[in-house]
Formats: sequence, C-alpha cells, structure tokens
Amino acid sequence: MNDSEYSSPKDSCGLFGVFGNSESADLTFLGLYSLQHRGEEAAGIITSNGRNLLSKVGTGLVSEVFSGPVLQEIKGDMAIGHVRYSTTGSSNANNCQPMKVSIKRREVSIAHNGNITNAPSLRKCLDDQGAIFQTSMDTELLIHLLARSDCEDFTDALCESVIKLKGAFCLLVMTVDKIYAIRDPSGFRPFSLGKLWGSLVLSSETCAMDLIEAEYTRDIQPGEVLEISKDGMKSFFPFKKDHKVAHCIFEQIYFAKPDSNVFGFNVYETRKKLGHQLAKESPLEADMIIPMPDSGNYAALGFAEESGIQFELGMIRNHYIGRTFIEPSQVMREFGVKVKHNPVKDLVKGKRVVVVDDSIVRGTTAKIKIKNLRDAGATEVHMRICCPPHRHSCYYGIDFPEKSKLIASNFSIEEIKKILDLDSLAYLSYEGMLQCMKLPGKDFCTACFNGDYPVEVDKSINKYSLELTNEDNRNA
Ligand code: SF4
Repeated sequence: MNDSEYSSPKDSCGLFGVFGNSESADLTFLGLYSLQHRGEEAAGIITSNGRNLLSKVGTGLVSEVFSGPVLQEIKGDMAIGHVRYSTTGSSNANNCQPMKVSIKRREVSIAHNGNITNAPSLRKCLDDQGAIFQTSMDTELLIHLLARSDCEDFTDALCESVIKLKGAFCLLVMTVDKIYAIRDPSGFRPFSLGKLWGSLVLSSETCAMDLIEAEYTRDIQPGEVLEISKDGMKSFFPFKKDHKVAHCIFEQIYFAKPDSNVFGFNVYETRKKLGHQLAKESPLEADMIIPMPDSGNYAALGFAEESGIQFELGMIRNHYIGRTFIEPSQVMREFGVKVKHNPVKDLVKGKRVVVVDDSIVRGTTAKIKIKNLRDAGATEVHMRICCPPHRHSCYYGIDFPEKSKLIASNFSIEEIKKILDLDSLAYLSYEGMLQCMKLPGKDFCTACFNGDYPVEVDKSINKYSLELTNEDNRNA
C-alpha cells in the first residue's frame, strides 16, 4: 500500500508465543522479527521461569529492543511477545506490550492485537468504579476486569472478563505456569497454533512459524479461549453464539506477509489472483506494468500475466529508511514519500506505464509518485487498484484515517483520476475481490469498502486514546 506507507493504514500489532521450550525467549525474538511488518513502534517479550515473569519491552524495532545480551537475562520455558503499531493508545514507552501486572498476588502478562470497540464505555464504567488506568491502551481494560472478577479460578476469571469485550482482539495472556490464546468471536485478526518438537507455538501469522521451523497445526478458532499448561491444552468457548465470522479481508489484500497463510489460505496466491481479476475487469494497452513495491508486487505480477504486458520493476524502493519515516506524523510521512520510492528514469522514459497498487487512502502520496513518474518521462500513467475504493474507516485495529480523510469517500473515481493526474484509474470490483478469496464472502469483514460493520462500533472512539474527542465526534 503505497499511499498508505506513510499515510496509513497500518496494522495494529503482532503476537508470538512459545510454551514448553527452554529457548522460548530466543524463539519469540525470531518470531517477532518475522512479524515486524505488523508493528514497528515497539516490541516486547515476557518469559516465565516457573516462579516469576521476566520482562523486556521497549520502543523501536525488534532488533533495537533486543540488542546485546538481553535475551539471556529473560530466559524461561515459556514466553509471549508483541510488536506494536498504535491504533488505540498513543505511541509512547508507557504503551509497550506485553503488559505485566500483579492481579490478586498473581503475576499476569497480556499482549493484544486488534481494537476493543466498546473500550470508551467500558473505561467510563471502570473509571466510575474507581479504576486507575496507567496507560491509554484498550488492552488495560482486561486487567481491570480481571482484577474485579470474583472467580477464584484464573481461567474462569479470564472467560468471564473477555466476554465483556467487543470488537477485534487476539490476546496472549500468560501467568507463571500457563499461556492462554484468545480470539474474538468474529475472528477478525489471524491467529495460529503450531508445534515445534515438544513445544507449542502461537503466532499472528504462519510466516513466523516457518522461520523457526515450527509446524502449523490449526487456527485458534473465533471465540476460543485456549489454555495451555503442562497438563496439555483445553479449549473454552465462553462467548455468546450470536456472532458471525468476519475475517479482515484486508489482511489478505495488504497486511499479512505474502509467505503467510491467513484464515487458511496463502496470501501470495490471493494477491496474484487479485491482479489477474483486475486485468480481466479493466484491460488497457500499455508498455509496462509497474508495481508499487513491495505491497503491489504480487497483484502486478498477476496483472502482467493476465494482460500479457511486460512486468518491470520501474519504481525502486529504498529499504534503508528505517522506522523514522514510519512514525505516524504528517511531516515524517511527507518526507518519507520523497525518499522511499524512486522511478527508474531510463526504463519509464517515453513509455505508457500502468502502476498497480493495493489501495489509495488519502491520495497525497500517490499523487507525488505519479508526478515523479511523469517527471521521469512516462508518456502515460495509468493506475489499477487491486481492491474496491476505501470509503469507510476501520474500527477493528487497522489504522485507516477517519472517513472524511479517505479520498474515495469524498470524490468519484473520475475525480480521483483528475486529482492524481492519471490517464486512467480503475479499482477491482467488490464481487471480483470476493471471488479471489478461498472462503465465502460472508466470512469476511469488508466494512472499509461498504460500511457494513459486522460488530457494532462507537465511531467517536479516538484511535490514539480511550477518550472521546470533539474532533472525532465531528468526523463520526
Ligand atoms: S474494516 Fe476493513 S481493514 Fe478493518 S477489519 Fe474490516 S476489512 Fe479489515
């Protein structure tokens, strides 16, 4: 997503956990490395040595947080880890995960991927009862709910607490002797279980399991609370059965890594199919297909295969920018656009080029890139987008800007074409997108395309805080 590389959306977080392995800290470090694309602001690992939880969390990339001998200092037989991109809770050191707290003299650690959509009302309710919040993350709500539970048994308390949460949440919860993997009843975000020798592995995406040579076993089921202890695994299903499954379709289109299988099928394959479908729906004559690297690569390959037009890597991505330019601030975003992608002048000069990308969000960065292609001498610049226009925001953990800032929410496709100075612009149809998925359309959330939110949302939620703001209320 090139428009989004600097202007959102981003994914909200990645989770990785290992149970029953003396190398759990090292394995979790590797797992998080593989999930770095899901969050680049902060990283953390908490391990258990059977008596205590040992913690290392910090802001920065996985390699920055875990430089030096730090992994030796947190050795344990089980671990949970987290990489963070803030969607709820601002991006500061206080908001690093996994969180570690003491609840009724029991050490507990929690890592979360997603967005709890009833967070503002829950927080108000807990505030009124005297709860004192330490962070602005929605994840902290679970800690307060656990602390207030009357259940003696921790698993019971956890089941009783998570059913009060609404929205998108994959959670890893760890005590000194157990790990729990929890997935919301709609199954918005991917969450998988695997095995490695005698150990168990949990991961947001299967690519992280591949890296440590773990074998994928199954997905954590929507609505499942999986308890893992030395006695084995136990599954609980405490949620009401009235939720429909709503996997985030955008995980397949953009967020997940192409070497992952997400919701049971391969991301690379899906993206190529999207490109094929797009070429069938919106053919044209041109000299070359150029992907916006890296996220447009796979759809562009499919488009080139289907259309028979030459595939060229005509836009070169600078891989050495680092997270400075991925910070969610407008100044950094705009600067980042200029340094991150550069057209190959000699290749595009005098040519009719088709740029394939996965979405246009605000349109600001796409406009600069198209201008750069024209400045490099392209005679025609066309754009093909491998999903329908994004007209609605996401309240389930993907950091889309609010509706008023989405270009497709304010302008027709013809108007966007003019704004971006394109010779032609086409998006994949909604039906075409669904055809490329290996699950039925009814199993996906597609709310950012059609506004049909599968779980009730509070549109006044501030993505960076649990407070309501006037600006958000205006934009709701
Ligand atoms: S609204 Fe869009 S990005 Fe958000 S969960 Fe649904 S499909 Fe995914």
